[in-house]
Amino acid sequence: MAIQTINPSTNQVVKTFSEMSPEALEAAVAQAETAFGTWRKTSYPERATLLHEVAVLMREHKEQLAQTISLEMGKLIAQARAEIDLSADIFDYYGTYAEGFLADKVLHPEAGEAIIRSSPVGVLLGVEPWNFPFYQVARFAAPNIMIGNVVLVKHASNVPQCAIAIEELFKNAGAPAGVYTNLLLSGARASELAADDRIKGVALTGSEAAGSSIASVAGKYLKKSTLELGGNDAFIVLEDADIDKTVEWAVIGRMNNTGQCCVAAKRLIVVEAVADEFIAKFKQKLEVLKVGDQLDGDTELGPLSSEQAAADIARQVQDSVDAGATVLLGGHRIDREGAFMEATILTDLKPGMVAYHEELFGPVASFYRVANEEEAIKLANDSSFGLGGSVFTSDIERGKRVADQIDTGMVFINHPTWTAPDLPFGGTKRSGYGRELSGLGIEEFVNKKLIRVSALTDPF
Ligand code: NAP
Repeated sequence: MAIQTINPSTNQVVKTFSEMSPEALEAAVAQAETAFGTWRKTSYPERATLLHEVAVLMREHKEQLAQTISLEMGKLIAQARAEIDLSADIFDYYGTYAEGFLADKVLHPEAGEAIIRSSPVGVLLGVEPWNFPFYQVARFAAPNIMIGNVVLVKHASNVPQCAIAIEELFKNAGAPAGVYTNLLLSGARASELAADDRIKGVALTGSEAAGSSIASVAGKYLKKSTLELGGNDAFIVLEDADIDKTVEWAVIGRMNNTGQCCVAAKRLIVVEAVADEFIAKFKQKLEVLKVGDQLDGDTELGPLSSEQAAADIARQVQDSVDAGATVLLGGHRIDREGAFMEATILTDLKPGMVAYHEELFGPVASFYRVANEEEAIKLANDSSFGLGGSVFTSDIERGKRVADQIDTGMVFINHPTWTAPDLPFGGTKRSGYGRELSGLGIEEFVNKKLIRVSALTDPF
């Protein structure tokens, strides 16, 4: 894939970048390894100073950075600004709390002393997706740099200016060369790079295909990986939910980032008693969304990230319709230049149809009616993915009981699946393994080293 900025509202190429030469890549890896030797010896306060400074610079340049996100992958400008705020918060969060998370853990053996010390492991490779070009990088870079690891980041090929801007932020914040390095590389070369002995761990956020490619290399060369992959989250509405409020959340949950969130509310599963009211109100809200350029503050439905993304989702919808699904709203590309897709609602979906099984990464909601709570849970779990999900009910204890029976990494009650620096994020099944964010997210690439002190005379 060419490394290019293409404005998805016009499909015009704005700027093209060259991939790194093999020599430049070798120099970047060597520099990262050298940097690790020094960075691992810095104190937590020194590392925290760097992260807080990155956060300061991000907020200072918020408008320019948000415009870059919006231009390159089509996010509505207000949501791009919110992404910068959230990313800065993640840097601050780890700057503030990492030392506590990584503090020595004192054990209490029968004799002598024992502690578990958190040590860095070395140079890490992060492969990141375009859908949240700053936030995804923050989730990986902030905790690992606080541990004392150093990071090489291969970003998605359609967000090169975002990728370069993040590296610049680190540089301007005073990061020593090699602590944070952007790699302008193809996906295939990133997988090859994972084999390099100097790389001690790999984290990928993206599709199942990319995850499988890089994790198989990591496995072959005996290094740890984490995978944050796709999802097909259920948004369950029970009969005792407040329907008006729930519909508002369903619109946000499905349409945020033009539907291109791994944890978007992709499957709306509504019990029969409230299904008609829910879907009528949901449809009313979707059909009036104002379509337009992502940089126009009045736009409510912008383009998808690329022409390919729009073509892919239109094909998934058409395949499902050909197999018997019903279109309640939309169903087609929007007749204008750019990567636009109509806000769409599909129903009458059955096993075997594309839209039943595959992730729909765009403004297309799948609507299912079920008889009761039990059927809702069964349907929610009938997915190869296991990322997030949500349950809407006025009975919180009931919501918790339902949440307990859903096989995913995250379940939210009375809110679509969401994110915050202090909440762990990640999935099960084909949505991947490992966690990012919170205290859990800093544990992935750490050597939990046991240091044991015995008296020379102790038997053990
Ligand atoms: P993608 O094609 O897998 O791209 C993601 C990253 O992987 C890009 O940097 C891409 O580089 C790289 N890549 C592609 N092929 C590769 C390979 N063989 N080896 C190594 N790296 C490779 O994913 P996408 O379709 O653009 O992104 C959307 C997907 O990410 C969705 O499925 C979404 O649900 C998932 N996602 C998951 C989470 C989560 O936290 N679970 C969060 C956000 C997104 P190029 O751009 O150069 O191809």
